[in-house]
Amino acid sequence: MPELPEVQTIIDDLKRKIKGDVIIDFWSDWKKAVKMPFEKFAKEVKDKKILSASRIGKNIFINLSGGKTIYIHLKMTGHLLVKSKIQNPKSKTDGKDYFNDKVNQYIHHVFYLKSGRTLEFSDLRKFGKIILADTNKIGEIKEIKSLGVDAMSKEFSLEKLSELLDGKKTKIKLLLMDQSKIAGIGNIYVSEILFESGILPVRPADKIDKEERKNLYKSIKKVLLKAIELRGTSDSDYRDTAGAPGEFQEVLKVYRRAGKKCPRCGTIIQREKIGQRGTFYCPVCQK
Ligand SMILES: [Zn+2]
Repeated sequence: MPELPEVQTIIDDLKRKIKGDVIIDFWSDWKKAVKMPFEKFAKEVKDKKILSASRIGKNIFINLSGGKTIYIHLKMTGHLLVKSKIQNPKSKTDGKDYFNDKVNQYIHHVFYLKSGRTLEFSDLRKFGKIILADTNKIGEIKEIKSLGVDAMSKEFSLEKLSELLDGKKTKIKLLLMDQSKIAGIGNIYVSEILFESGILPVRPADKIDKEERKNLYKSIKKVLLKAIELRGTSDSDYRDTAGAPGEFQEVLKVYRRAGKKCPRCGTIIQREKIGQRGTFYCPVCQK
C-alpha cells in the first residue's frame, strides 16, 4: 500500500501538472469506488477548477473551486496517472514509456481536463475509494476524523511521539503503524525506521527509553524524507503520476531482505510476522 512518501510524491506531481486545470468530465467502469451516486458525483465535479492538492497521512485531497474536495484513498494497489493529450508521452529522461507497463493498465476512473490532460486512477485490486466532500468539512469524514498526527507535520514533535508511547504495552511496530496515532507510516517504512533507530519491532512502546525515543523520532523523519526524495518505494504496484517507479526499493536496508546480510553488521536479516504482516529486522543491530 502506498505510504506517506508515495502519497507525497503524487501530491507534488499533481500540484505541478494539474493545478489550475478544470475538470470537464468524469468516467468510471467501477462506480462502486465512488461513495455517492455516480451521476451526482460526475455532475458536481464538472466545470470545477483544481485549486490545490494536499494530504494527511496516506489520504489524498484534490481541492476544487466551489468549496468541494475530492478525497481519494489508493488502498492496496491504486495509483494516479496524469497523461497529456499527446498519447503516451515519453516520461522521465530515459525516454521509456511507462504508461505501457502492465502495472499502469488497470484504469477504472478518468477525470478529463480542459487542457486535454487526463487524471487516471489505475487500481488492479479495485479497493480504492473516491469521496466528494465540502472542503471545510473534510475533517468530519469518518476516515479523516479518526487520523492521528501526520508523521511529517510540524505538530508531530518528539514530545508528541513520547506522549503516544507513554503507558502503552503495544509492540512498537504496531503503534507506529496505527493511523489513529500517527498517520502515514505503513509496513515498508516501519521496518526501515526501526532498523535505523536500532529498536526491535516487538519491544513494548512504554519500555523504550528517553534516548531511544530521540533516535526513533529522528529516524522517522530521516527515513520518510529520504523516501520522498527518492519518489517512494515501488516494490509492487506503486508508480508516480508519469507511471514511473520510485527508487527507494534500491536502498531498502531490511524490508524484504530476509536471509540477506545486514548492511551494518553482516548478520542475517530475520523475518517475523507481527500483526499479520511480515516484519524485517537485524537481531544484532536492533535491541
Ligand atoms: Zn545488523
